[in-house]
Amino acid sequence: MKLVTLFFAAIALFGAVATTQDEEPKDPVVVAYQELIAKDLRLATVGYHLAKGSADYCRNKWRNPGWVLHDERQYPDLGLAHRVFTFRQPISIAAVVAGGPAHRAGLIAGDGLFGADGSVVWYGPSPKRHQPSSERIDGLRDEFATRLSEGRPIPFQIDTAKGRRDFLLDSPAICASDFWVDARAKRDAGADGVRVRVTSGLIDYVLDDDELAAVVAHEMAHNLLDHRSLIEAAKSGKTKVIKATEAEADRLSVWLMSNAGYDAEAAISFWQRYGKATGLGIFSAPTHYRWPDRVTMLRQEIDQIRTLSKSNVPQDPPLLAAHRAQK
Ligand SMILES: [Zn+2]
Repeated sequence: MKLVTLFFAAIALFGAVATTQDEEPKDPVVVAYQELIAKDLRLATVGYHLAKGSADYCRNKWRNPGWVLHDERQYPDLGLAHRVFTFRQPISIAAVVAGGPAHRAGLIAGDGLFGADGSVVWYGPSPKRHQPSSERIDGLRDEFATRLSEGRPIPFQIDTAKGRRDFLLDSPAICASDFWVDARAKRDAGADGVRVRVTSGLIDYVLDDDELAAVVAHEMAHNLLDHRSLIEAAKSGKTKVIKATEAEADRLSVWLMSNAGYDAEAAISFWQRYGKATGLGIFSAPTHYRWPDRVTMLRQEIDQIRTLSKSNVPQDPPLLAAHRAQK
């Protein structure tokens, strides 16, 4: 991940916003730092709810702690990062998802991760000067993801405002879900098989969390159904395979939304609005359906959910049931 590069891009963007004379000028870099963490939390929260809502039905699971971590080294200006955020350790909690495992364990923003069971590399050699890099936080995330996916709890210590305490990260397994905000202004989202990426520009574009859930659920669906490996395994007719996976991601998305308590109708309103504005889906044709076809498919799925459930209880999405049956 080129988080540092993305940070610079975001800062350049916000730096271009002029402040009026009679307003207290706010450091655009401070605004950029704060807004990015706010977006990270918003995405992590929507993603957590989607993953939890269908936890019983996913084959691909992960123990999502419900937090946003950040490393002081992510920030080009270390001094400023320390003025904007609390870092009790170089890698600290930037935000926690309300009601999530980290929140329930009493962890708060600023709490710092310290020490481990000997094999997690927390800190590389201490640089003499501050060197912006996202390597360390990326490495930590990967390490967590591996261990948590194997079902191994991770013991470590946390520096809190009240001193150091032991902490065992052993979050319940919910649907595979790891998210990050790509700071670019371009409206885009993607799934790499493990993580879901949503750009800052797309988060600005959605009208509310229901619409954000529509985007995240679509991308999450790709990861939950192993679409990436399916596409990579296809020897020929990749375009057809990609188109089929797009239809599946759309179909599953509204079930994930509905199971998490989001308004599945927002998927229709989002794709209509987005489709009319761009003429395309999140990616480009011809591998993707035109938006009127997507809307028709989404409508069919929503009707099916309504037929099954009149009382808003979670339903087993047919695509996840079929995916479970594959093994
Ligand atoms: Zn897609």
